[in-house]
Amino acid sequence: MISMLPNRQVIRVGEIEIGGRQPVFIAGPCAVESRGQLWRIAAGVKQAGAHILRGGIFKPRTSVHSFQGVGAKSEREAVEALGWLKDAGQAFAMPTITEVRCESHIALVAPYSDILQIGARNMYNQDLLVAVARQGKPILFKRHFGATLEEFLSFAEYITDAGNADIILCERGILSFGKGQAFARYTPDIVAVPILQRLSRFPVVVDPSHATGRRNLVFPMSCAAIAAGACGLMIEVHYAPAEALSDGEQMITPDEFAEVVRVCRLIHAQLPA
Ligand code: PEP
Ligand code: MN
Repeated sequence: MISMLPNRQVIRVGEIEIGGRQPVFIAGPCAVESRGQLWRIAAGVKQAGAHILRGGIFKPRTSVHSFQGVGAKSEREAVEALGWLKDAGQAFAMPTITEVRCESHIALVAPYSDILQIGARNMYNQDLLVAVARQGKPILFKRHFGATLEEFLSFAEYITDAGNADIILCERGILSFGKGQAFARYTPDIVAVPILQRLSRFPVVVDPSHATGRRNLVFPMSCAAIAAGACGLMIEVHYAPAEALSDGEQMITPDEFAEVVRVCRLIHAQLPA
């Protein structure tokens, strides 16, 4: 039987192991909107089985007219929202993750986030990669939607070269063609999971939320990712997706997330050790 764990590096964040024997679930809202919103979602995802709390404070958006994240309003509001994230993480015993969109965010975000996220659009931003790497915190590194696997791994080397080997690779969907976007925003590149895990030592997680952009596709693509050997999933969750200020169409509820966790654990238990 082929082992799913060749020489995989295990990344420890507090009590949590990413790349270890059990799949890791990262969950939370697309964007942090208020203390109450984050608190309620943190409680829900924790109860459903999440290990790590996500929440965007600086949002990368396609349109300048879309909500840019609480952090974009002012530094004071960014720090306040970062405090909500840290507090909710501590209250529900979950390490935290949020995105750093540019170099000026790094010093602001680092004291509040256990893992720093590099968004898909910044995969090619070598100066940002080097600067984030120097913080010494684990990095969740998202693949650009137009990047080849060679490019993805090549840009990960900017992080290792800057002295940080704690990289979690995240497959988040690649561009589709023809009418593809009518059905799913991107195409989850599931085959990238076993390939990246063979070509590198880094644990690979999948983000089925951004990869599909459709809430009804999150469950099947989560199952597919775990069956393909992913070390974990990052999923956007909201108690009232229709009210969300960003990505409402792809967020699932805490109950739906609990079902994803339950079934993915069953699938994972059937895989070779
Ligand atoms: C996110 O995870 O919040 C996000 C914006 O994803 P991506 O960078 O993959 O679009
Ligand atoms: Mn989102």
